[in-house]
Amino acid sequence: KGKIDGNRLARALRLAVKRTHAEQQEWNSPMLHLAQQQFLKAAQIMGLDENLRERLLFPQRTLVVTLPFRRDNYTQVETVFGYRVQHLLTMGPTKGGIRYHEDVGLGEVSALAMWMSWKCALMRLPFGGAKGGVRIDPTELTGHELQRLTRRYTMEIIEMIGPDKDIPAPDMGTDERVMAWLMDTYSQQMGYSVPTIVTGKPVSLGGSLGRREATGRGLVYMIEEAAKMLGIPIKGATAVVQGFGNVGSNTARLLEELGVKVVGVSDVSTGLYNPKGLSVTDLLQYAQDHRVLKGYPHADEVSNQELLELPCDILAPCALQNQITDRNAEKLNCKLVAEGANGPTSLEADEILKERGIFVIPDVLGNAGGVTVSYFEWVQGTQNYMWTLDEINSRLKKILTDAFQRTAGRSDSLNLDFRTAALIEGIERVAEAKLKRGLFP
Ligand code: GLU
Repeated sequence: KGKIDGNRLARALRLAVKRTHAEQQEWNSPMLHLAQQQFLKAAQIMGLDENLRERLLFPQRTLVVTLPFRRDNYTQVETVFGYRVQHLLTMGPTKGGIRYHEDVGLGEVSALAMWMSWKCALMRLPFGGAKGGVRIDPTELTGHELQRLTRRYTMEIIEMIGPDKDIPAPDMGTDERVMAWLMDTYSQQMGYSVPTIVTGKPVSLGGSLGRREATGRGLVYMIEEAAKMLGIPIKGATAVVQGFGNVGSNTARLLEELGVKVVGVSDVSTGLYNPKGLSVTDLLQYAQDHRVLKGYPHADEVSNQELLELPCDILAPCALQNQITDRNAEKLNCKLVAEGANGPTSLEADEILKERGIFVIPDVLGNAGGVTVSYFEWVQGTQNYMWTLDEINSRLKKILTDAFQRTAGRSDSLNLDFRTAALIEGIERVAEAKLKRGLFP
C-alpha cells in the first residue's frame, strides 16, 4: 500500500492498451466485412437506392458494455466485454440470439445482427435483426458463474430489450438455462413474470414445443427441398455434419431419421469418420456421457480440415463462421452445402462452389428454422396460445418451403446463386418498408 509497484503498473498498462486496441479493432472484423460484401453484392444486382444502402450497411444501434462478475472463489472478479446490436428498427421489434464465445466482438455481433434482418425479412417475420454477445469462453465457467454473468449482462442491456422492443434468444454458447436466467432477471426488475422477453426458454416457463430442435429441423426441411430440386434421392444419401451442438446434433439426428447415412461428424474436440455410417443415437449418448466426441470408438479420427473434404452428398457446416474458404473450396467433395452456421462460407468460396456446380443452401435460409419457431414462441406468449408440436412443425415447414420457392424463383429468373437471391428477397422487403415509412423528421 502507498508504494508504486512499477512492474504491476506496467502490466496493468499493457492490459489496458491491449483492451483499448481491441476496442479500436471492434468494427474491423472479417465477419462484418463478409456480411457487408454479401449485402453490397446483392444491393448492386438489385439496384438498391444509394441512401438505403448506406443506412443498411451498419447497425442502427449498438451498445458496448464492460461487465464484472464474481468467480466462485468470491475473491476474484472478472471483467469482460458485452454487446447488444440492433441492425434494423423498421420492421417491428428486433430479434436475435446471444452468443457467448471468446472471440465475440462488435464487428461479429453486427454481422450476425445484419444477417438476422435479412433472415427475418426472407421468412416474412415482423422483426428486424439484432444480436448480442459476451466475449468469454462459457465452457470455462461453472453453472453459478454463468448465472451471475448472465444476470449482470441482462442488467447492462436492460434498457435496450423488451417484449415489444428487442427479444433475445439462444445462439452459440447459450441455451435454455441462460434464457431462463435472463427472463428471471428481467421479470425481477418489472415485478411480474415477462416470459415474452426472450425465446428459446424452457417449455415449463412458456417456451415453445419444438423450439429446441427447430434450427436443425428447418435445415433438414431445406435439404429435402434442395435434394428434390437437384434430383438427389434423400434415402441412402450420405452426409457430413460439422459441429455437434444444438444445430449440428439435431441436424444429424433428423437426417438419420430420413434414412440419410451420416458418415462424418465433429465437435471442438475431434472429427469422426466412418464410411459405413455412424449411429447418431449412439453418438448423442457418447457426447452426453463424455461431454465431447473425442474417444468415440466406432469411427476413425479426422481433423477439421479432413472432415470438410470427406466424400459425401450433403455437407452441413453447423459450427463456426469462416470454414469454407478459398483454401479448401476446391477440395470439397460434396454435391450440396447446407449452412446451419451463420457465415460459414467466404465470398471467394461462394464463387468457387458456384463454378464447381456445388449447390449452397445459404445460412439465411438454412438456419432460419430457429428464429421462425422463436416467432411462434413469441406469438404464443403474447396471445396466451398453446400450439401442439404438429401445428408448430407444419407451420415451420410451410414458411420455410415458401421462402425456398421464392428464392428458387428469383435465382432462376435472374440466374443468381441461392445466397444472392435469398438476400435480395429479404433486402427488397426491408427497402420497401423503409421507403413506406418515410424519413424522420
Ligand atoms: N440465434 C439464432 C439465429 O442465428 C436464433 C435467433 C432467434 O431465435 O431469435 O438465427
